[in-house]
Amino acid sequence: MVGQRVRTRFAPSPTGYLHVGGLRTALYNYLFAKKMNGDFIIRIEDTDQTRRVEGAQKDLIKTLEWAGIIADESPEHGGNFGPYVQSERLDIYDRYCRQLLEDNHAYYCFATHEELEENRQLQIKQGLQPKYNRKWLPEELGGSMPPSVIKKKLDEGDPYVIRMKVPDYVSVWFEDIIRGPVEFDSSTIDDQVLMKSDGFPTYHFASVIDDHLMEFTHIIRGEEWLSSMPKHLLLYEFFGWEPPKVAHLPLLLNPDRSKLSKRQGDVAVEDYIRKGYSSDAIINFVAMLGWNEGEGSEQEVYSMEQLIDKFSLERVGKAGAVFNVDKLNWLEKQYIKNRPTEQLVEVIKPILQAELEQKKSLMPEEVITSDTYLEKVIELMRERVGFEHEFVTFSSYFYFEPETYDDEAVRKRWAVDTNALLREFTDILYTLEEFSADNIEAHLKEFVVPKGIKAAVLIHPLRILASGVSFGPSLYHMLEVLGKETVIRRILTGIEKISVPV
Ligand code: GLU
Repeated sequence: MVGQRVRTRFAPSPTGYLHVGGLRTALYNYLFAKKMNGDFIIRIEDTDQTRRVEGAQKDLIKTLEWAGIIADESPEHGGNFGPYVQSERLDIYDRYCRQLLEDNHAYYCFATHEELEENRQLQIKQGLQPKYNRKWLPEELGGSMPPSVIKKKLDEGDPYVIRMKVPDYVSVWFEDIIRGPVEFDSSTIDDQVLMKSDGFPTYHFASVIDDHLMEFTHIIRGEEWLSSMPKHLLLYEFFGWEPPKVAHLPLLLNPDRSKLSKRQGDVAVEDYIRKGYSSDAIINFVAMLGWNEGEGSEQEVYSMEQLIDKFSLERVGKAGAVFNVDKLNWLEKQYIKNRPTEQLVEVIKPILQAELEQKKSLMPEEVITSDTYLEKVIELMRERVGFEHEFVTFSSYFYFEPETYDDEAVRKRWAVDTNALLREFTDILYTLEEFSADNIEAHLKEFVVPKGIKAAVLIHPLRILASGVSFGPSLYHMLEVLGKETVIRRILTGIEKISVPV
């Protein structure tokens, strides 16, 4: 393996959505491969045909690509080690299974489901850990089943599975990059089924064969697979293959430190995409679930390039990582705050265009849809939104005339003379040659001071008339962006609609 090009893989089963834990596994595999100038590969593990969901494979790859995790080889894009879908590799598994049978590392087992279940219950009753009782272990492998009985069953075409023969009394040892040395006693390992009665391999068998044939140098996956390692290592030994290096990632936890579950929040990446999180924030967030750069680093916001540069498996912790959505929301806000305006324009433009198209009938003729106008809106709203799509929802008054006015605010902010004052001030606005925030502010002050009234007397009604709502960015800047004509039109049409208290 020395000097070999690093190859890692993400090997999901196409059973539906992409779990955030799956995204983290994919990301760590990707980061590690890229950091080492190696290749990242996607392999689809669909050997459990009962759990296969139509379309899931395409969706998984699409979601990963959305996140910026682009595979060098995959079922969609091909490569030199294909096919990358296990159900298309059945002849390969069959061949290797024959070899194990010939070498006496595997055997046929004709036990029925009922028999196995009965045996399991009995062992549980006896306080033993359930394990296959080796009834079908052939005589030549140290069992008690005569070859003639096995041959007869095969000739009769009875359904069977093929099991691996786990050697007795050996210790299986390996070094996990994250966990350090791990040891298992072979007596705790079951004679794992390698081939099922439907002719499909089990996960364990197929993944070992493929990991070897596809020349992976490092296997990075969730902690739940740690206990499978001894079975896998025995298979490598049977074939005389060198096993790849392994790293098992810590569990993801709910904030109460129980195992991350759907019951306490969304676990599908697709749910977060639907809610409007950006791929940058999600990747940043998921990267930190178990990894950190190390002492002395205060950095919390990382781009994909920075993650590739800084990532190392040695800095992945063993302890469970808490999945805290507040942290994700905070990151999302950071991205919006710091993202260059031109980039935000590119993201928001299509969302805005769809909205404008939908509300076409409500649009005044002079609606401004230029990029420069959008840039100004973004600059004003940047601090006030939590998601990119909120630029459109919270900024709708920059594009559409207010249809209604916040009733409660009107009741609170309007006095008998408010409309008259607004009319008078509008006359001043007409005269302004420079419709800038500073100039509007200066003229408003100049207007209210001699009258002995507070600026707030006009500020609030102006905001409500211009936007329909009582909150938003700095009023003067908002008026500047809306522009003189729009502001005056909105004030004058608005006051007609507002009933003044008597
Ligand atoms: N197909 C397995 C899964 O769904 C892959 C486990 C592995 O990476 O070996 O997680």
